[in-house]
Order: sequence, then structure tokens, then C-alpha cells
Amino acid sequence: MTGARQSLGGWGNFPRMACTVRRPDTVAALQREVASPASHALIARGLGRSYGDSSLLSDGVVLDQSVRRRFLEFDREEGMVHCEAGVSLADMIDVCLPCGWFLPTTPGTKFVTLGGAIAADVHGKNHHVDGSFGQWVSELTMLLPCGDVVVCGPDRDAELFWATVGGMGLTGIILSARVRLHRKRSAFCEQTLVRTRTLEETLSLMSAEDCRYRYSVAWVDCLARGKSLGRSIVMLANDAEPESLPPHLAAEPLGRVSRFSLGVPVTPPVSVVRRSSVRGFNAIYYRMHRQGSALVDYESFFYPLDGIAHWNRLYGPRGFIQYQALFPLDTASDGLRELLDLVSSGGNASFLAVLKRSGPASPGRHPVLPRSRIHPGRRCAPSGIAPPRARRGARSGRAATWRPRVSGEGLDHVR
Ligand SMILES: Cc1cc2nc3c(=O)[nH]c(=O)nc-3n(C[C@H](O)[C@H](O)[C@H](O)COP(=O)(O)OP(=O)(O)OC[C@H]3O[C@@H](n4cnc5c(N)ncnc54)[C@H](O)[C@@H]3O)c2cc1C
Repeated sequence: MTGARQSLGGWGNFPRMACTVRRPDTVAALQREVASPASHALIARGLGRSYGDSSLLSDGVVLDQSVRRRFLEFDREEGMVHCEAGVSLADMIDVCLPCGWFLPTTPGTKFVTLGGAIAADVHGKNHHVDGSFGQWVSELTMLLPCGDVVVCGPDRDAELFWATVGGMGLTGIILSARVRLHRKRSAFCEQTLVRTRTLEETLSLMSAEDCRYRYSVAWVDCLARGKSLGRSIVMLANDAEPESLPPHLAAEPLGRVSRFSLGVPVTPPVSVVRRSSVRGFNAIYYRMHRQGSALVDYESFFYPLDGIAHWNRLYGPRGFIQYQALFPLDTASDGLRELLDLVSSGGNASFLAVLKRSGPASPGRHPVLPRSRIHPGRRCAPSGIAPPRARRGARSGRAATWRPRVSGEGLDHVR
């Protein structure tokens, strides 16, 4: 099977690499791919929404799994869904929400595959309550580098399961997964919005409201300095019950929500995300938000960035790097202050800096799988899906830590 050689990047468009991309859409075709001597190294790719290089491979083959997107089973009573790994979270919402089920947790974009969500063990705005995505997966079917198809889960081959959850595609290819969904009786959230003036105010508000709100996130003006350092817009929310909707929405609480969306049609020759433009944007963004409570649809609450297609193009052809840090609670304030100081006093700028609360770590105890486990030797193909290494993004054992997200031009090479 031949594959097109194409320039590929992650969502940050940095780095970009010439990769051989193939799209095997059946298990048999994937097994042939794994067994082929030509495929000395392989990596699975979903929808390419990870910011960095995790789904790129210049010396090997990238297996685009977004083509495997069938729903295999959906139990509407119990809220259990079994899908091929290339099904996107957007597809899952389209199918499950009208039946009163939503994703147990979701990243800030719905355009990721189920396989990508598990491989990165993605978190959402409810980590402090519900943990990360992997905790809601009850079973994985995987293709190992030796060509075997195996089933694993938290109670069955747990070592392989927990090494794959957050394993960034390095233990094999996730073929399908069973996921436990979250009961959602309307397509809306009740959101309370608070504008804070300082970092301390932001942190103590989020900490104090942990027990009252299932979802919480803060947008931080990372260019604010001095006394305003860390000023934020804190968004706290719970799922809205149909009884709390106005009559025109209560008639069809799980109806499709329509959304006005924009797009960036081309990549400008240079980045338009500059310090001056970000400073202006951040100041306006901070002021334009009214404090108070409002009903918002799930698209606006969970996926505000999806309303601007290809927003990553704004950074120009050189792309950008997203930087994430996780702080233990007792040093979060100092650590964040230092980080924000560094960003606001350096030449960097970001319009997208986000703070989230993290709850307890995943129950996985085996983030590193012995090489012998995925290369049992017997009829192991010379494929080179690398043995897993300790997962990126620490699994902190602490009860609550801070997870800020900062993206911006000029953070190049900060990893
Ligand atoms: C706007 C935006 C907001 C985001 N917000 C968040 C957030 O709030 N929280 C969060 O945790 N993440 C967030 N992310 C990151 C994103 O959710 C993850 O990077 C996710 O893994 C992307 O999924 P993908 O299908 O695009 O996978 P890709 O980017 O294509 O691949 C990511 C990794 O998954 C592996 N992989 C993909 N498919 C398979 C498979 N079938 N089998 C085995 N391995 C596979 C790849 O090898 C690679 O290592 C955000 C990204 C964007 C662009």
C-alpha cells in the first residue's frame, strides 16, 4: 500500500514535517500495515488537534485513523457507547445528546477523535469533579505492534490499558473504545461569570466554588502586570435542567443548537498575533464580559474556539507553541505569578491563557509498560511503534493542582 507524502503539522503548525500518510480503514488493512517491512515505524493520527508533534513521523508512516468512524453500539438506557477510534467527539455529541447523553468530559474543541482523546487522556473544565477522559473508558480494543488485537480495560489487562490512556499512541493503535456517558437533560449550561482583579482573587474564587460548580475555567489576561497581574474572567457552570429553561427552549431542551461561526480563510504571511494586537484584544475581552448569570448553549460554553474555524492560521506560517504547566496547590500562586511575570515582561503574547482546577490523578498505576509487553517477540513485525515512555503531562498524585494553559507566539522552544 502506498501513501502520499505530505507536509503535516499539529494544531500549532510547529513543527511541520514531510510525512508518509496512509489511511487503512479496516483492522485487516492496519494489520498488513503493521506487518509490512516497509513500515519500520508507525504512529496513529486522529484529527491532528494536538498542538505539537505527537502525531508526526518523518521517518516512518503516519496512520490516519480519522477514517475509522463507525458507531458500533449505543445503549440509550445506560449511556454506554462503543465506537471506532476515529469517531470524533462532535459525532458523539450529534448522536448521543438528542438521547440525553453527553461526553463525560471534553477538551476545548470537539474536533478530536475518540482515539486522540484517550491517547492524550484529555481533561476538560470539570477535572476537579470528574477527572480525565480515560476514567470514563471501560474497554479498549487495540492493535499491538506485534499484530495482535487485544481487549483491555481497568479490570482486564489494566497495565496495558493505563499505559495506553495518556500513552500518546506509543503502545499501539486504539481500534475502538467503550465510553460511559454523562446524563445531560438539556443542551444548555447555567453559567456564572465573575471578573477578578488579581491572581489571588482568581485562585481563591475558583477554589471556593469547586464544590458548587461542575465546570470551572478562567481566562487570564496574561499581559496584565503589576497589581492587575493574573486578572481573569472566571466562568463557573452547571448543567441546566429543562425546568430552568425559558418556554421556547423548554419545549425541546435537547434540540440542536445553531451557531454563528467564522473562519480564517488563509494563512497570513506573518503572524497577526503580536504583542500590540494581543494587548488590545485582552483589554477589550476583559472589559466586554458582564458579570452575572446566564443560560448558554453547550457549544458556546465548551467550544468557544470552534466558532472560528482555522483560528490557528492567525499565527502565520511559523505557527506557535502551546505551553502547559501543572502546579501543586500549595505552590500554585507563586508558580503562576512567576510564569505570568515571565510572559508579561518578556516579548511574548497570548490571547489564550487558561486556568483550570485539577482533581485527583487517574487511577492508573502503570504509566510505563515494559517493552516485552508490547513486543512479545513471537511474531513481532519490525514495526517500530516505540515502547511507551512516561506519559507527557505528569500524573500528579495530589488532590488538587492548577493547570494553566498559555499559548502564544514567541514561546518558541519552551517545552
Ligand atoms: C482548540 C483546542 C483546545 C483544546 N483543549 C484541550 C483541553 O481543554 N484539554 C485537553 O486535554 N486537550 C485539549 N486540546 C488538545 C486535544 O484535545 C488533544 O491533543 C487530542 O489528543 C487531539 O486529538 P486528535 O484526534 O486530534 O489526535 P492527534 O492530534 O491526531 O493525535 C494526538 C495523539 O493521539 C494519538 N492517537 C490518535 N489516534 C490514535 C489511535 N487511534 N490510537 C492510538 N493513538 C492515537 C497520536 O499518536 C498522538 O500521539 C485542545 C486542542 C485544541 C486545538
